[in-house]
Amino acid sequence: METVVEIIDENNIDERAKSVIKKAGDIIKNGGIVAFPTETVYGLGGDGLNPKSSKKIYEAKGRPSDNPLIVHVADMESIKKIVKEIPDAAYKLAEKYWPGPLTMIMNKSDAVPYETTGGLDTVAIRMPSNKIAAELIRCSGGYIAAPSANLSGRPSPTQAKYCIEDLDGRVDMIIDGGAVGIGLESTIIDLTSGTPMILRPGYITKENLADILGSVDVDKTILDATSKVAPKAPGMKYRHYAPKGDLTIVEGESSAVCDYINAELLKAKEEGKKCGVIATEETKALYNADVTKIAGRRDDEEEIARNLFTLLREFDDEDVDIMFSESFNDTGIGQAIMNRLLKAAGHKVVRV
Ligand code: AMP
Ligand code: MG
Repeated sequence: METVVEIIDENNIDERAKSVIKKAGDIIKNGGIVAFPTETVYGLGGDGLNPKSSKKIYEAKGRPSDNPLIVHVADMESIKKIVKEIPDAAYKLAEKYWPGPLTMIMNKSDAVPYETTGGLDTVAIRMPSNKIAAELIRCSGGYIAAPSANLSGRPSPTQAKYCIEDLDGRVDMIIDGGAVGIGLESTIIDLTSGTPMILRPGYITKENLADILGSVDVDKTILDATSKVAPKAPGMKYRHYAPKGDLTIVEGESSAVCDYINAELLKAKEEGKKCGVIATEETKALYNADVTKIAGRRDDEEEIARNLFTLLREFDDEDVDIMFSESFNDTGIGQAIMNRLLKAAGHKVVRV
């Protein structure tokens, strides 16, 4: 299949941009699939109410079909058709956080095919704030099922060039709308049983959600590598975000972390391996790696979140064999950062 790539600017949706989005909307209405920017990461979208489109998305990504897709909408009214009822909590959260990086799980109606929900009776719903995404949803019938626009297992794409790298020839169109703002996927909250539960941490934190809802639980499997219980979001059980090289997270007091990593780098270099480090602005000068990537300033979690997937991809571009990362606080947005980093490392952590 030939993949058309179109570049447009979210901040200047002119006549040409509108016609690109309309063309993309027509592709989706006709059962095709399109990669497009959102504020979190790039998504790979198809018609969420068409089972054939969802199948195409799974195929293009190489994604296991029990891993449900998120249905993206452009307004509250659209939700009525795809759920049994809208819980009060959803109205409260929508008021504050939609459009934005929050996905809510509700009980699905018959309008949503099981191909989209991976066989579940619930549906994940998000209203993105990115203007290209919102316009595309309107032009494609109102319901875009979209997971992240990467090959299954790879870091989620923060720029169109990574969608092209993974999906060229596998999708009908890629809309290049520049680099995304947030860089990590949406927070997922389940509203279908008892106390609302966070199934995937993200930019909207547990504290943010508890402010609105009172109490919020967190799926315990999210940060715990030793848990034998399956995570409630099926996708969270799969190896994910993995760079091609071998990544280890090193925890501990900063100078001990640095000493440990430098000793390991020396060993790896003797074995002829190309070595990388994920450092912070504060520690970047301290490592003797072939490639040192700076996640950001340690106190700027937004910046670290925005950079994480990009730098994991860059290690691949530079053919790095072995990588070490500093560890980050696991509160606030740090919880989402550590969740993605732990998965990228296959939960390989050394405490020094
Ligand atoms: P992605 O869009 O690639 O970030 O993946 C979507 C994530 O949402 C995966 O981790 C899914 O398991 C999760 N998800 C989607 N629908 C549901 C649902 N109905 N219940 C629980 N998790 C879901
Ligand atoms: Mg994904």
